[in-house]
Amino acid sequence: MVLKYSFIIPIYNEEETIPELYRRMAAVMDGLDGAVELILVNDGSRDRSLMLMRELREQDTRVCYLSLARNFGHQVAVTAGLNFARGQAVVVLDADLQDPPELIPKLVEQWQHGFDVVYAQRIQRRREGWFKRLTAFVFYRVLKHLADVEMPTDTGDFCLMDRQVVDVLNSMPERNRYIRGLRSWLGFRQTAVPFERDPRFAGDVKYTFRKSLGLAINGLVSFSTVPLRLSTYLGMFSACAALVMAFLVIYWRLFYPTSPLTGYAIIAAAIFFLGAVQLFSIGILGEYIGRIYDEVKNRPLYTLSEASGFTEFQSQSKSRRTPPELQQRSLEQ
Ligand code: UDP
Ligand code: MG
Repeated sequence: MVLKYSFIIPIYNEEETIPELYRRMAAVMDGLDGAVELILVNDGSRDRSLMLMRELREQDTRVCYLSLARNFGHQVAVTAGLNFARGQAVVVLDADLQDPPELIPKLVEQWQHGFDVVYAQRIQRRREGWFKRLTAFVFYRVLKHLADVEMPTDTGDFCLMDRQVVDVLNSMPERNRYIRGLRSWLGFRQTAVPFERDPRFAGDVKYTFRKSLGLAINGLVSFSTVPLRLSTYLGMFSACAALVMAFLVIYWRLFYPTSPLTGYAIIAAAIFFLGAVQLFSIGILGEYIGRIYDEVKNRPLYTLSEASGFTEFQSQSKSRRTPPELQQRSLEQ
């Protein structure tokens, strides 16, 4: 049987939302015109999420799950799902119902019209904190400005991708994965479907400020080298500033020999300013070098502790150990 649709949902401590998520997903899946698989990816949850996933798998054979051996982060969890998805169209969405499953038929419709990537674009975020809204607003606009590729604003990972696109995405070896950026980078025929982002159904936000900041820096550094150039600009700027100061000092010496401005203050300011510029530039260099180091290490992107519902691995799924070929597959695909 050829699978037509795959749904990938990363899950990190979402025990409160899973039953409702399944209910709404099942309703959507029932209405689709082809065989469906629902891939739940447990990203090292510490609550009952994995247990609930096992139960769902027993109830409904359309449900499959992967369990990462620890918390690897949202982007890696989605990547694992993409590695295992077999459908002709693959949809990625969040577990917390902020990405309404009911939008899926609209995404599918665009896919049937011939688009390879159909991403959902937020027109409104309902009841999310002002801080999150403001930082997201600024970030997406800065990124759009700096990135080497055209990236649509206000789009997250909620999207539908054609098999062809998923295959290419899976073949990309980079490990600092900013999926929504890679997706734009790929090209193909892309289109947006607008939607209103609902508030989280239950539980707390799993993307802490630190994780969001990490994702934002990753997005910037992976898709733009403008920050590297920033140190050149800062260097030029401080050289000009130094020149102006030198002229001022000479001027004051000649015409206002008693001016206190030629004293310590100006020296201290210059030292602090240069120190800041240098530290900042080293920090930017560090961001890139850290990523090069990360890529060079070439570790597997994730390790699996359990998988169920993927026919090739059915026999292994009973034992709780990760078969080596399962770990391998994650990278080689
Ligand atoms: N998530 C994950 N691993 C993490 C953090 C989050 O798999 O380390 C999942 C989480 O379960 C949810 C999705 O990523 O399905 C988005 O998380 P959240 O709703 O907290 O983020 P936000 O809505 O703020 O983007
Ligand atoms: Mg959310």
